[in-house]
Amino acid sequence: MQYDHILIRYGELSLKGKNKKQFISQLKKNVKQKLREFPDIHIIRARDRMYIKLNGQDHEPIIEKCREVFGIQSVNLALRVENSLDKIKEGALFALNEAGNAKTFKITTKRPNKSFDVPSQEMNQVLGGHLLSNTEGITVDVRNPDVEIRVEIRNDATYIMAGKIPASGGLPVGTTGKTLLLLSGGIDSPVAGYLAMKRGVKVEAIHFHSPPYTSERAKQKVLDLAKSLTKYGHEIRVHIVPFTELQQKIFREIPEGYGMTVMRRQMLKVSERLAKQEGILSLTTGESLGQVASQTMESMNAINEVTNYPIIRPLVAMDKVDIIDISRKIGTYETSIQPYEDCCTIFVPKQPKTRPSREKIHQFEDPVDFSEDIDKILRNIETITFTEHEQQSDDFGDLL
Ligand code: ATP
Ligand code: MG
Repeated sequence: MQYDHILIRYGELSLKGKNKKQFISQLKKNVKQKLREFPDIHIIRARDRMYIKLNGQDHEPIIEKCREVFGIQSVNLALRVENSLDKIKEGALFALNEAGNAKTFKITTKRPNKSFDVPSQEMNQVLGGHLLSNTEGITVDVRNPDVEIRVEIRNDATYIMAGKIPASGGLPVGTTGKTLLLLSGGIDSPVAGYLAMKRGVKVEAIHFHSPPYTSERAKQKVLDLAKSLTKYGHEIRVHIVPFTELQQKIFREIPEGYGMTVMRRQMLKVSERLAKQEGILSLTTGESLGQVASQTMESMNAINEVTNYPIIRPLVAMDKVDIIDISRKIGTYETSIQPYEDCCTIFVPKQPKTRPSREKIHQFEDPVDFSEDIDKILRNIETITFTEHEQQSDDFGDLL
């Protein structure tokens, strides 16, 4: 006997009323995509859950992959047996033995299939008795058992499960629209992208690159980060923006203390233009209130003035240590801490204004016309697409 199914429980999406169907079909698509390298498995979608029929495939790597798919609350190994009392007894004993060192157990039976003639309560007792008389040193504890064995008698068969493995939660990527993530090489923005995806958002990334002030290695780092994020969102397009000329112009034309604020404003303008062009309805950044000079309330007010696009800031109220924890967990930290500088650190003034006002910014920025520079930038964006299972596409092969 061996576990032959994995049961997938939906998280929040089971609450979504009439959108539920669309959510479940997106989830199924995402699970299928994720498990592409296991052609023998079969995914079965039920109203309130999904099953993966393993067909002899080892369950461990599949469970690990399922835990990376947003929209899944928990997974379980399950044994499918026919609806016969003997088979169910045998299955329950198997599940208890598989549970390792459990000293106490509890049986919970559900019987959606009312034509099966042993009621749930009675089934709990029959199975409990069977397990007690076939094991030694194990007792029943209904309040706080080491292992809960769940028996579900459904129309097609009975499923027997023990334990519950938590997964990522969230909503299936692709169910809540698209965002354009401003992706730097730092710690924060990849985490912001991950958290946006967790809410079901599909992410495209934009990165501002300023060669020769920033190196190919710095750009490669950003591409590596994007590639890491495909684990959670399957496909990510990265738009690399040639930012050098515009940055030099800011450096020339704007008093030093205000350069950073003006640069951020131009970044948002370019991002909004690109988002519009691509039919994307929001921007996402890794900003966190009070973290650096550009993230004071005054800076955010001055920077945000240039766009009325919604800006998603998943990290806005988070502490750096908690952001770092997530970045370690999702596997972006080691890449993020590589020392290649990005465009912002190079042009950073020695003393940026931490409290820029909109009035002052207008005084310095209004006389300078950036519109042609932005048009030119948009014409020269380079786009690279990453998918989880493949190398990047587009004309970029020589970099990797
Ligand atoms: P991060 O760790 O994400 O780099 P940070 O703490 O270094 O963030 P800033 O440098 O102020 O903070 O950047 C704030 C946000 O602006 C970043 O989280 C990112 O979303 C965006 N950003 C910064 N630099 C770039 C860049 N070169 N290209 C695209 N987006 C950028
Ligand atoms: Mg940064």
